[in-house]
Amino acid sequence: MTHELGHAVHEYVSKKYGELGREKSCAQAETASIFAEQLVFAALLKAETDSKHRFILLAKHIEEMIAKTYRQIAFYRFEDMAHIERTNGEVSAQRLQEMFKSVMDNYLGPSVDTTGVEFICAGIHHFFEYDYYVYSYCFSCCVVNSLYEVYKSGTVANFAEKCMDMLTDSGVENYCSALAKFGIDATSPTFWQDGMRLFEQELSELETLEADIMKRTYINLEKKATH
Ligand SMILES: [Zn+2]
Repeated sequence: MTHELGHAVHEYVSKKYGELGREKSCAQAETASIFAEQLVFAALLKAETDSKHRFILLAKHIEEMIAKTYRQIAFYRFEDMAHIERTNGEVSAQRLQEMFKSVMDNYLGPSVDTTGVEFICAGIHHFFEYDYYVYSYCFSCCVVNSLYEVYKSGTVANFAEKCMDMLTDSGVENYCSALAKFGIDATSPTFWQDGMRLFEQELSELETLEADIMKRTYINLEKKATH
């Protein structure tokens, strides 16, 4: 719901430029929605004090980030393979399934049984309706993580207003110059690495919580055993 609310706010503010100005890239559209998700997630996590509940929230958020980055990159690789192979002639449904299974095997690794995963490609409508749309989730996830780091640092004055301006102008302004207003250089490789830092922080908090929960469970079990 938060994700779609982000899209709604973006649509609303970008009406300033009329119908033509409303045309924006998929990556910009997903930045609005994923940033909204990030804000709500951070507020939920801040309000939660129970370590088991924090664990569940964090685990869910990390899984979503994995789905937005690694999974979408796997989808992108499948799409790329399919388009390249299509230049040599018609590609059968069976061949599409083979290609999809090979990228999913690669993404999930040997510990996951991927039997039947090949049929999922038929249900992802982005492949058929919006070429390469899948990549925008990964792009936007990294942009949002970096933007969120800037927001937390408090180094950019009037962050919220600037964010709304970026969304308003997204149909008429270049993405790199829009991000430059936040001190972000989207052409630098470190920008993309910075985007993954949030991922790393959440993962280490999850590991600390897990160790704490395991320790307390063990102490409780020991207490029961001694009674
Ligand atoms: Zn979306």
